[in-house]
Amino acid sequence: MYCPFCRADDTKVIDSRLVAEGCQVRRRRECTVCHERFTTFEAAELVMPRIIKRDGSREPYNDHKLRAGLMRALEKRPVPLEQVETLISKVESQLRATGEREVQSELIGQLIMEQLVHLDKVAYVRFASVYRSFSDIKEFGEAIARLDTRTGDKP
Ligand SMILES: [Zn+2]
Repeated sequence: MYCPFCRADDTKVIDSRLVAEGCQVRRRRECTVCHERFTTFEAAELVMPRIIKRDGSREPYNDHKLRAGLMRALEKRPVPLEQVETLISKVESQLRATGEREVQSELIGQLIMEQLVHLDKVAYVRFASVYRSFSDIKEFGEAIARLDTRTGDKP
Protein backbone atom coordinates (compact mmCIF):
# COMPACT_ATOMS: atom_id res chain seq x y z
CA MET A 1 0.00 0.00 0.00
CA TYR A 2 1.57 3.24 -1.18
CA CYS A 3 1.45 6.29 1.07
CA PRO A 4 -0.95 8.80 -0.57
CA PHE A 5 1.13 11.68 0.77
CA CYS A 6 4.68 10.83 -0.24
CA ARG A 7 4.26 7.63 -2.34
CA ALA A 8 6.55 5.62 -0.07
CA ASP A 9 5.68 1.94 -0.28
CA ASP A 10 6.38 1.17 3.35
CA THR A 11 3.30 1.80 5.46
CA LYS A 12 2.33 0.00 8.62
CA VAL A 13 -1.08 -0.99 9.89
CA ILE A 14 -1.81 0.58 13.27
CA ASP A 15 -5.42 -0.50 13.62
CA SER A 16 -7.60 -2.98 11.81
CA ARG A 17 -11.29 -3.65 12.30
CA LEU A 18 -14.24 -5.18 10.53
CA VAL A 19 -16.93 -2.82 9.27
CA ALA A 20 -20.03 -3.10 7.06
CA GLU A 21 -21.14 -6.22 8.91
CA GLY A 22 -17.84 -7.93 8.37
CA CYS A 23 -17.67 -7.36 4.60
CA GLN A 24 -14.94 -4.79 4.83
CA VAL A 25 -11.79 -4.27 6.79
CA ARG A 26 -11.03 -0.74 7.85
CA ARG A 27 -7.35 -0.19 8.38
CA ARG A 28 -5.60 2.73 9.92
CA ARG A 29 -2.13 3.03 8.48
CA GLU A 30 0.90 5.12 9.15
CA CYS A 31 3.62 5.89 6.64
CA THR A 32 7.01 4.94 8.02
CA VAL A 33 8.65 7.68 5.94
CA CYS A 34 6.55 10.84 6.40
CA HIS A 35 4.48 9.55 9.37
CA GLU A 36 1.18 10.68 7.86
CA ARG A 37 -1.78 8.54 8.82
CA PHE A 38 -4.58 7.42 6.54
CA THR A 39 -7.43 4.95 6.38
CA THR A 40 -8.09 2.20 3.87
CA PHE A 41 -11.21 0.12 3.36
CA GLU A 42 -10.66 -3.30 1.97
CA ALA A 43 -13.47 -5.48 0.74
CA ALA A 44 -11.97 -8.71 1.94
CA GLU A 45 -14.39 -11.37 0.79
CA LEU A 46 -15.06 -9.89 -2.61
CA VAL A 47 -11.48 -9.93 -3.72
CA MET A 48 -9.82 -12.65 -1.68
CA PRO A 49 -9.43 -15.90 -3.57
CA ARG A 50 -11.14 -18.98 -2.19
CA ILE A 51 -8.96 -21.59 -0.60
CA ILE A 52 -8.52 -25.07 -2.04
CA LYS A 53 -7.84 -27.40 0.84
CA ARG A 54 -5.65 -30.50 0.69
CA ASP A 55 -8.67 -32.74 0.28
CA GLY A 56 -9.81 -30.69 -2.71
CA SER A 57 -12.71 -28.97 -0.94
CA ARG A 58 -13.04 -25.19 -1.14
CA GLU A 59 -13.64 -22.68 1.61
CA PRO A 60 -13.72 -18.89 1.84
CA TYR A 61 -10.56 -17.18 2.94
CA ASN A 62 -10.72 -16.68 6.69
CA ASP A 63 -8.33 -14.26 8.34
CA HIS A 64 -9.41 -15.35 11.83
CA LYS A 65 -8.19 -18.84 11.08
CA LEU A 66 -4.91 -17.54 9.75
CA ARG A 67 -4.48 -15.27 12.76
CA ALA A 68 -5.23 -18.14 15.16
CA GLY A 69 -2.58 -20.31 13.52
CA LEU A 70 -0.05 -17.51 13.75
CA MET A 71 -0.87 -16.78 17.39
CA ARG A 72 -0.29 -20.43 18.26
CA ALA A 73 3.12 -20.30 16.61
CA LEU A 74 3.91 -16.99 18.31
CA GLU A 75 2.81 -18.05 21.78
CA LYS A 76 5.09 -16.48 24.43
CA ARG A 77 7.28 -14.98 21.72
CA PRO A 78 8.29 -11.30 21.93
CA VAL A 79 6.45 -10.21 18.79
CA PRO A 80 4.05 -7.22 18.92
CA LEU A 81 0.52 -7.84 17.68
CA GLU A 82 0.95 -4.96 15.27
CA GLN A 83 3.63 -6.92 13.41
CA VAL A 84 1.33 -9.90 13.21
CA GLU A 85 -1.32 -7.69 11.59
CA THR A 86 1.24 -6.34 9.16
CA LEU A 87 2.25 -9.86 8.26
CA ILE A 88 -1.37 -10.86 7.65
CA SER A 89 -2.06 -7.87 5.44
CA LYS A 90 1.10 -8.58 3.44
CA VAL A 91 0.00 -12.15 2.88
CA GLU A 92 -3.49 -10.95 1.93
CA SER A 93 -2.19 -8.52 -0.65
CA GLN A 94 0.08 -11.21 -2.10
CA LEU A 95 -2.93 -13.50 -2.37
CA ARG A 96 -4.94 -10.80 -4.12
CA ALA A 97 -2.00 -10.07 -6.37
CA THR A 98 -2.13 -13.62 -7.73
CA GLY A 99 -5.34 -12.58 -9.50
CA GLU A 100 -6.60 -16.13 -9.02
CA ARG A 101 -10.13 -16.90 -7.92
CA GLU A 102 -8.91 -19.94 -6.05
CA VAL A 103 -5.54 -20.76 -4.52
CA GLN A 104 -4.11 -23.87 -2.88
CA SER A 105 -3.90 -23.70 0.91
CA GLU A 106 -0.20 -24.60 0.58
CA LEU A 107 0.41 -21.22 -1.04
CA ILE A 108 -0.85 -19.41 2.05
CA GLY A 109 1.40 -21.48 4.27
CA GLN A 110 4.32 -20.71 2.02
CA LEU A 111 3.62 -16.96 2.02
CA ILE A 112 3.27 -16.91 5.80
CA MET A 113 6.53 -18.75 6.26
CA GLU A 114 8.35 -16.33 3.98
CA GLN A 115 7.24 -13.47 6.23
CA LEU A 116 7.53 -15.29 9.53
CA VAL A 117 11.15 -16.21 9.00
CA HIS A 118 12.02 -12.52 9.27
CA LEU A 119 9.83 -11.98 12.31
CA ASP A 120 10.71 -14.79 14.67
CA LYS A 121 12.77 -17.92 14.14
CA VAL A 122 11.10 -19.99 16.82
CA ALA A 123 7.64 -19.15 15.53
CA TYR A 124 8.79 -19.96 12.03
CA VAL A 125 9.94 -23.43 13.01
CA ARG A 126 6.75 -24.05 15.01
CA PHE A 127 4.55 -22.90 12.16
CA ALA A 128 6.53 -24.80 9.57
CA SER A 129 6.43 -28.03 11.52
CA VAL A 130 2.65 -27.83 11.96
CA TYR A 131 1.88 -26.53 8.51
CA ARG A 132 4.10 -28.66 6.41
CA SER A 133 4.21 -31.59 8.79
CA PHE A 134 7.64 -32.18 7.33
CA SER A 135 7.51 -35.44 5.49
CA ASP A 136 11.05 -36.36 6.34
CA ILE A 137 13.67 -35.26 8.79
CA LYS A 138 16.04 -34.11 6.05
CA GLU A 139 13.55 -31.54 4.82
CA PHE A 140 13.12 -30.21 8.35
CA GLY A 141 16.89 -29.98 8.78
CA GLU A 142 17.15 -28.01 5.55
CA ALA A 143 14.52 -25.54 6.73
CA ILE A 144 16.45 -24.99 9.96
CA ALA A 145 19.71 -24.60 8.06
CA ARG A 146 18.19 -21.90 5.85
CA LEU A 147 17.17 -19.85 8.89
CA ASP A 148 20.60 -18.37 9.52
CA THR A 149 21.04 -17.07 6.01
CA ARG A 150 17.47 -15.93 5.49
CA THR A 151 16.98 -13.95 8.70
CA GLY A 152 19.82 -11.69 7.59
CA ASP A 153 17.57 -10.36 4.84
CA LYS A 154 15.59 -7.18 5.10
CA PRO A 155 11.90 -7.97 5.51
ZN1 LIG B 1 4.44 9.04 3.40
